[in-house]
Amino acid sequence: MDSYDVSIVGAGVVGCAIARELLCRRRAAPIRILVIEQHERPGEETSGRNSGVLHSGIHEPPFSLKERLALEGCRLATAYALEHDVPLLKAGMIIAVSMEDVRRGLWRDISMLWRLWFNAWRTKTRVRFMTPSALRACEPYLHACCGIAIPSVSVIDSHAFVESLKTESEAAGAEFAFNNRVIGVEEAAGSYLISTDRQQIQATCLINAAGLYADDIAALGMSYKKYVISPLRGEYYELVTPEKKRLIGRPVYPALPRQAIGKGIHFSPRPNGQMYLGPNEMPITDKADYSSRRTPPGLFVEALQKFLPSLDERDLRWAYSGIRPRVVTKSRAKSDFIISVDREEPLLINLIGIESPGLSAALALAWHVCDLPSLRSRFPSA
Ligand SMILES: Cc1cc2nc3c(=O)[nH]c(=O)nc-3n(C[C@H](O)[C@H](O)[C@H](O)COP(=O)(O)OP(=O)(O)OC[C@H]3O[C@@H](n4cnc5c(N)ncnc54)[C@H](O)[C@@H]3O)c2cc1C
Repeated sequence: MDSYDVSIVGAGVVGCAIARELLCRRRAAPIRILVIEQHERPGEETSGRNSGVLHSGIHEPPFSLKERLALEGCRLATAYALEHDVPLLKAGMIIAVSMEDVRRGLWRDISMLWRLWFNAWRTKTRVRFMTPSALRACEPYLHACCGIAIPSVSVIDSHAFVESLKTESEAAGAEFAFNNRVIGVEEAAGSYLISTDRQQIQATCLINAAGLYADDIAALGMSYKKYVISPLRGEYYELVTPEKKRLIGRPVYPALPRQAIGKGIHFSPRPNGQMYLGPNEMPITDKADYSSRRTPPGLFVEALQKFLPSLDERDLRWAYSGIRPRVVTKSRAKSDFIISVDREEPLLINLIGIESPGLSAALALAWHVCDLPSLRSRFPSA
C-alpha cells in the first residue's frame, strides 16, 4: 500500500490549487501528495461547469471569506492566466438596470447598485457608475438605463485553468489517481487509510475538496454527518445566432435585491467567442442530475430580453448545466465558504460549500488552507 503525507480528495480547481500551493511552498523539502479523483480528468464537475467569471467579491456578504478570497483570488487568477497562457477575456463586467425595470417601478434595483458601490468602496475595488451614454459607448446594443462597471473582472477558460493547475502541481511532484472514487476512510495508527473503488492508500493528512460530495467525504472522515450539501442546478443555453452572439461583449448581470440566491441569469461570453445565457436556479435532489426536466429557453429569453430586445427563443440552444454545492443552514441564510480543521490527529481539513465565487477564489483559498496553523506545523515551509 502506498503511503503519502497528504491526500486531497477532488481534482477540481480547489484540489489542484491546493496541491500546487503546498508543493510550491516546499520545493526544498518535498512532501508526497496524492490527489484522488473519481473522473478520468480534472475539472469534470463544478469547476468545468460554470460561467468562468473571475469575480471581484463585491456581490458577497461584507467581511465574509467569500468576499475576501474572491477579491484576492481574482487578482491571483488573472496574473496566473496571463503568465501561463490560460485564455482570458479581459473586458470587465457590467451590472445593469433595464429601462423596463424602472418603468415597472423596480427602482429598488438601483439600491442594489448602491450596495455594490459601497462594497467596492470598502474593499478598494475600482468601479464606474455608468450613465446611459457611458453604457452606450461600451455596449451599444445593451438596453439599460444605468449600471456599474467593474473593470478588473475577466472571464477565464475554466477547463484550461484547472488543467494548467493540475499540470503545474504534477510538475512540482504531485501524483494524481484518476478513475478512483473514495468509498471509505478509516483511522489506522495515526494516519488515514483511504479506500477507493480501486486501491487503498495511507495518508497522514486528508484534505477534502470533493465539491458536491464534500459532505459525504467529511462524514467518512469523522464517522458522523456534520454538513449537508443540497444541490442547486444552474442551466445554460448558448446564443447561437451568428449576428446576435457578438452584440454583447462582456458579462452583463442584472441588478438583484440583496436576498437573491445567485447573481442572476446573465450574458456570459467566453474567451473563445461563444456566448451563453444563464445560470438559473433549479433545486434538484440528485447531485448528478445535470439534465432531467430542463428549463425551457423561454425563461432565459424572458430574463434577458429587456437588455437585448431582439433576443428570441430560436437563437438559443441547450448547452450544459452546473450544480452548486449549497450548504443548508438552519436560518436558510446564504452560507459562507467553510474551511474547517475538523480533526487534528490525524489531520482532516474539510472544504464545504465552495460555490460561487469558488473559481475566482481558488488560488487564494489554496493560500488560506496552506496557512492553517495545523498544516503549517506539520509541514513547515522549507
Ligand atoms: C452554474 C454555476 C456557475 C458558476 N459560476 C462561477 C463563476 O462565474 N465564477 C466563480 O468564481 N465561480 C463560479 N461557480 C462556482 C465554481 O464553479 C465552484 O466554486 C468551483 O468550481 C468549486 O471547485 P471545487 O474544486 O471545490 O469543486 P469541484 O469542481 O466539484 O471538484 C470536486 C471534485 O471532487 C471529485 N470527487 C467528489 N467526490 C469524490 C469521491 N468520492 N472520490 C473521488 N473524487 C471525488 C469530483 O469528481 C470533482 O472533480 C459557479 C458554479 C456553478 C454551479
